[in-house]
Amino acid sequence: MKKQKRQCDFCGRPESEVGLLIQGVNGAICNDCIRMASEILDGVPGKGAKRNAPTKELKKLPKPAEIKAHLDQYVIGQDDAKRYLAVSVYNHYKRISQSIDDDGVEIEKSNIIMVGSTGTGKTLLARTIAKLLDVPFTIVDATVFTEAGYVGEDVESILSRLLQVADYNVAEAERGIIFIDEIDKIARKSDNPSITRDVSGEGVQQAMLKLLEGSIVNVPPKGGRKHPDQDYVKVDTRNILFICGGAFDGIEKKIAQRMNTHTVGFDSVQNVRKLDPSNLMQYIRPQDLKSFGLIPEVIGRLPVLTYLNPLDKEALHNILTQPKNSIVKQYTKLFEMDGVKLEIHPEVYDYVVDKALEYKLGARGLRSIFESIMIDAMYDAPSSKKETYEITLDFAKQQVEKNLR
Ligand code: ADP
Repeated sequence: MKKQKRQCDFCGRPESEVGLLIQGVNGAICNDCIRMASEILDGVPGKGAKRNAPTKELKKLPKPAEIKAHLDQYVIGQDDAKRYLAVSVYNHYKRISQSIDDDGVEIEKSNIIMVGSTGTGKTLLARTIAKLLDVPFTIVDATVFTEAGYVGEDVESILSRLLQVADYNVAEAERGIIFIDEIDKIARKSDNPSITRDVSGEGVQQAMLKLLEGSIVNVPPKGGRKHPDQDYVKVDTRNILFICGGAFDGIEKKIAQRMNTHTVGFDSVQNVRKLDPSNLMQYIRPQDLKSFGLIPEVIGRLPVLTYLNPLDKEALHNILTQPKNSIVKQYTKLFEMDGVKLEIHPEVYDYVVDKALEYKLGARGLRSIFESIMIDAMYDAPSSKKETYEITLDFAKQQVEKNLR
């Protein structure tokens, strides 16, 4: 009988091509495959992931009004969004702490979607709530995901980040909050999905469904793409709260279209009069998200829909000065640490707000404009002997013209 050639049963290479072949009862393994297997065992943090009890007790649950009052300290305006968030977060945590099946009433999950222009406070709201509740919180950008098999990240890696934040304590991660930003960017690109494959749009939405509704998901602990050689951690997403945010540029047109068709009727004149054309976002309904390109299944799993208002002059002014850690308070503190009192003339605030509006940067622009005003002052102040540092309108204008041209 012909003697069979010996080979590694993992990579298939013959004995002649490998350094060392170790023979077992029913097969053999080469030195390279042993090393790879060992690296998989050592290098995967998931191996050490703990499915034990959460390390922390859930904090005493604040009531919706208390949650809103807390948000008010950090976020200006956006009352509707705050109320919706407060109620859904409250219900969500009531649901988690509910003892299982006492009367058969199961409270359903209340994932949230917030619609509003960029820089109006969506991320800030989600972050502030997570901090209040002291649960693992992570922000992911929907644009990095593609359908499995294409260049990009697998949707499951959303959970990898939450695991990392929870220090690989699975139980802790399983009651966390995930903020998925730019959800509008995975809208279906065309009404007819058969023309070209839409791997970063509808494909991702489909993949996201099972995370949103609550299921046990195999998570690659290090994120990125799933890989056959990897160990997975099983994460149950049933109690993870998903908050999605998106600017949905142009959705006002869809809202207007819908409202126009609906107002044709007996009370059309009355209805049209009631509309505020400068802020159509407040009339958003789930069907507008569908017209924009979210699939109905995803919309169904984000039952709480709310909106953010565009920031007007007054709101921007308030953002600059009022929140607990407002930009002005932060700079004042920086100067204080050098023993210098910072005095900003009130006209400077109006000027900064006007510039932010001019550059169309929203609240995000406030910081960069303020930074450009303060840079020279921050350079000088620590070594100057001055006890007070004044920022006048002329100085501010000069600095902005010099640094932001
Ligand atoms: P987005 O809506 O794009 O998620 P962010 O929440 O990231 O916007 O806002 C960007 C920054 O602008 C925040 O870090 C915050 O400093 C400021 N900001 C935006 N909106 C508000 C607001 N309503 N109140 C206070 N600060 C705000």
